[in-house]
Amino acid sequence: MAPMGDNVVVSNMKLERMLSMKGGKGEASYVNNSQAQAQHARSMLHLLRETLDGVRLSSPDFPFVVADLGCSCGSNTIYMVDVIIKHMTKRYEAEGLDLPEFSAFFSDLPSNDFNTLFQLLPPYGGVSMEECLASDSHRSYFAAGVPGSFYRRLFPAKSVDVFYSAFSLHWLSQVPDIVLDKRSTAYNKGRIFIHGAKESTANAYKKQFQGDLAGFLRSRSKEMKTGGSMFLVCLGRTCSDPTDQGGAGLLFGTHFQDAWDDLVQEGLITTEKRDDFNIPVYAPSLEDFKEVVEADGSFIKNKLEVFRGGSPLVVNHPDDAAEIGLALANSCRSISGVLVDAHIGDWLSDELFSRVASRAASQAKELLEQLQFFHIVASLSLA
Ligand code: SAH
Repeated sequence: MAPMGDNVVVSNMKLERMLSMKGGKGEASYVNNSQAQAQHARSMLHLLRETLDGVRLSSPDFPFVVADLGCSCGSNTIYMVDVIIKHMTKRYEAEGLDLPEFSAFFSDLPSNDFNTLFQLLPPYGGVSMEECLASDSHRSYFAAGVPGSFYRRLFPAKSVDVFYSAFSLHWLSQVPDIVLDKRSTAYNKGRIFIHGAKESTANAYKKQFQGDLAGFLRSRSKEMKTGGSMFLVCLGRTCSDPTDQGGAGLLFGTHFQDAWDDLVQEGLITTEKRDDFNIPVYAPSLEDFKEVVEADGSFIKNKLEVFRGGSPLVVNHPDDAAEIGLALANSCRSISGVLVDAHIGDWLSDELFSRVASRAASQAKELLEQLQFFHIVASLSLA
């Protein structure tokens, strides 16, 4: 008899105590399934550099502080921090100024696999800062991990020069309570995401997103040094209707949704079990994002735009339907697997994602053509 997964989870358990990308170095780990994020981030480097060019060069007597919020456990964060510090180093050198010491904070929720991340860090040379900077294989900054939610305070006031956050702000702090309440019109019956859901459900997500982003901006406005800047990238959408979640909608609202329905139809889980699960992701429109930045009022918008990121699928053989199916399943599992495992247990989670893979393989060509991510890119400085 297959387990029904009924006792595995407390469904209203606070998300921030359990959310993380899949840790370790296995097939469905974030480390092995974040090449698309790496490519998308690299395609925006020119925008990041523009932001960095606007950062005030502080006195070399104090450390220059960079923080990556929602760093996860792969090498993407290490690469980006390196880019930021190298760029700032060049700026100090170009101005003929003494170099400050650099400090990098890697921040994510406490359940993030910080161990894997720390093991990926290049060694700190133990030699002079100049030698570290000259050598690619050594680290030119002091590193530390900061566990906590970026929707609240994480750092002392006026202590950070550059905030960077990529592909993280679309994660909500929680699934809105009314979406889980059977008596509410916003109850997300039959669906595990808002793509194609009722307007009231999608609006509850929008409200949650905007409230969360407001908390994020409030906290950063206190923590940023005068003259500092932040560069933010999160999933976004081009359509004004929040029930059309674009690329995120295709990722979570089609094969993944159908695979949940398969488990129900095969009697492996109840409809209620499925309906209690909701992906806490919201891909905002530019307008959704802009409204919050303007209402907060602490930041100048150097840039706020929608950027076409490309596909989340990175495959070696675009004609191999099975490889594409597996790439979609692994990509989906690397980011939502921890939540799914907690909700239905490992065995049913394996069953679910194997159905995602076979369903996706049967429409591999369409997936490669249609699955595109758009991102909101924001470059903000203190007003
Ligand atoms: N920036 C990385 C990882 C993106 S994955 C990259 O570019 O590849 C998204 C990350 O956001 C996850 O590690 C997740 O744990 C983190 N995250 C989601 N909600 C968060 C919150 N409220 N506070 C801090 N981190 C959060």
